[in-house]
Amino acid sequence: MTKRVLVNGAGGFIGGHLVKRLKAEGYWVRAVDLKRHEFAEPPADEFIVGDLRDQSVVRQVVRGIDEVYQLAADMGGAGYVFTGEHDAAIMNNSATINLNCLEYGRRAGVSKFFYSSSACMYPEYNQLDPHNPQCSEDSAYPAAPDSEYGWEKLFSERLYLACMRNYGVQVRLARFHNIFGPEGTWQGGREKAPAALCRKVAEAPGGGEIEIWGDGLQTRSFLYIDECLEGVRLLMESGCTSPVNIGSDEMVTINQLAALVMEVAGKKLALRHIPGPQGVRGRNSDNRLIRQKLGWAPSARLRAGLQKTYAWIAPQVLAADRELVLA
Ligand code: NAD
Repeated sequence: MTKRVLVNGAGGFIGGHLVKRLKAEGYWVRAVDLKRHEFAEPPADEFIVGDLRDQSVVRQVVRGIDEVYQLAADMGGAGYVFTGEHDAAIMNNSATINLNCLEYGRRAGVSKFFYSSSACMYPEYNQLDPHNPQCSEDSAYPAAPDSEYGWEKLFSERLYLACMRNYGVQVRLARFHNIFGPEGTWQGGREKAPAALCRKVAEAPGGGEIEIWGDGLQTRSFLYIDECLEGVRLLMESGCTSPVNIGSDEMVTINQLAALVMEVAGKKLALRHIPGPQGVRGRNSDNRLIRQKLGWAPSARLRAGLQKTYAWIAPQVLAADRELVLA
C-alpha cells in the first residue's frame, strides 16, 4: 500500500525539495506550512496552510499519516539566529511545534518521525579553532551550544529520543550542516551565507565590492540540497536511531566561499569586512559515523552546488532590480 507521509515546513527550502523527492519515489504526501512556498509549487497531494503551534491544526494534519518529516522551525541564517533579538520566539515556536508534532502524531498512530536537528547544537568550546573544529556526534556533551536555536535543537533531539524510548515510536535524527541550493531564501534577513553571497555578488557592479561579516576567516562547510535529501532518505530507511551529521566535509573560510562565488559568477570584487553576527569560529561536518551507519557520505564539490545556486539567484536579483526601476 502507498505510504502516507507528512512534510512539516514544506513551504520552506528543504521541505519544498523533500516533497518533490518523496513524490518522485511514489509516496502520498501531505504538506504543511505557515505559508505557501515562495519560489516553487511543491507537488504535494495536499498542501495545508496552517500553524503547527496550534494543537488543533496538528491533530488534523497527522490524521491517517504513517511517517512524519518534521522540518518546520523558526529559523534563519546568522543575521536571524545570532543577534539575540529572536531568541525567545525561536525557542518557543520551534519547541511547541516539536511537542505538538510528537504528542498528536503518536496518538494518531504515526509510526516513524524524521527530525531535522542542526550542527548548531554542538558545543561552542569545540569550535573555537577555525582550522580544527570538532563535530563528531559523540562530542555533543557536555552541552554548550552558542545560540538558543542550538539549545532548542538539542532539547528537541532529546524529546524525540525520549518518545522513542517511552512510547515505542521510531525516530531518525539528522544534524544538518548548512544546506544550500536553489529555491531557498536569498534576501530579507533569514538567508544563509551561500545565498547571501550569491545575492551580493550578483548585485555588485564589476570592479565593486561586497561586505563580509567579520574577518571572513571563520570556517564552515556547505552541503548541496540534493545530497542532503539523499542522506535524509537513506537515514529514514536505515536502522540508525542515534543522531547523525548530514553535511559536507569540504571546509572553507567565508572568504574562500566568497572567492568561489565570484569565480562562478565571473566577477572580480573586493571584500570589505564589517562587524556582524558570525556564530562559532569553525565548523565542519564529521562524516565518519554516517559512512559507517549508511555506507554513504556526501561527496559532491562545493563549486558545483554554487554554480547551480548562483544560476538561480542571479536572475532573481535582476528581476528584483527591474521591479524597483519600474516602481
Ligand atoms: P526554512 O525556513 O526555509 O523552512 C522552515 C519552514 O518552517 C518555513 O517555511 C516556515 O514557514 C515553516 N514554519 C515555521 N514555523 C511554522 C509553524 N508554526 N507552523 C508551520 N510551519 C512553520 O528552513 P530550511 O532551511 O528549509 O530548514 C528546514 C529544517 O532544517 C529546519 O528545522 C532547520 O532548523 C533545519 N536546518 C536547516 C539548515 C540549513 O542550512 N538550511 C541547517 C541546519 C538545520
